[in-house]
Amino acid sequence: MENSKNYFKKAIVDGGMDLFSQGLTVGTWGNLSIRDPETGLIYIKPSGMPYSDITEDDVVVMNHKFEVVEGHRKPSIEFNFHISIMNERPDVNVVIHTHPIYSSVFGVLNEDLPGISEDFVQIVGDRIINCDYALPGTPELAENVVKALGEKNAVMIPNHGTICVGGDFKAAMKIIFVVEKSAQIYILARSIGTPKLISEEDILAMQDFAKNHYGQGK
Ligand code: 13P
Ligand code: ZN
Repeated sequence: MENSKNYFKKAIVDGGMDLFSQGLTVGTWGNLSIRDPETGLIYIKPSGMPYSDITEDDVVVMNHKFEVVEGHRKPSIEFNFHISIMNERPDVNVVIHTHPIYSSVFGVLNEDLPGISEDFVQIVGDRIINCDYALPGTPELAENVVKALGEKNAVMIPNHGTICVGGDFKAAMKIIFVVEKSAQIYILARSIGTPKLISEEDILAMQDFAKNHYGQGK
């Protein structure tokens, strides 16, 4: 138990540094949480601390009832949507919220980001949408986020940022990179022409392929 606690706390510290050093978020903004599938406990970043200052001791441990069970720091103000997503999605053990550049453009325009490439439609969804606007850190934002995320693996928050989810940290990071790459490509494509979208039929075929056949041992 103590060993697994240390493991998840370290994952929050290292994961936060990863996000920050790869330019996926800025300053103290953005946040990440990881659920231990065995205990159901959720490890979350402390609020408003520079990523480089956060140590294992600063990580806050919460339960599915939104209660702090361990830690002396204030949890991320976005604990509402982190925990609400995990409560709704048993397949999700990692929630990462960033303030990135390219997908944020779609949040500012309040426009969907459609499926324009193979990787995106295979692992993120047919398209990602903006949730309804609400102020950061509110239960209302959590409600809006859960609704707009649905069964997809990413959602945008208008005039704010992006949320990506996955079964583990690696999977959630892969979603972030594919979303950012697709947003960048779509912006560039629209700047010189009219992007062609992938048909619904082909999206379904690629999703089936990714789920049932793509990769070793399937
Ligand atoms: P926290 O520092 O409390 O995680 O808040 C940052 C943020 O991005 C709020 O949306
Ligand atoms: Zn934010």
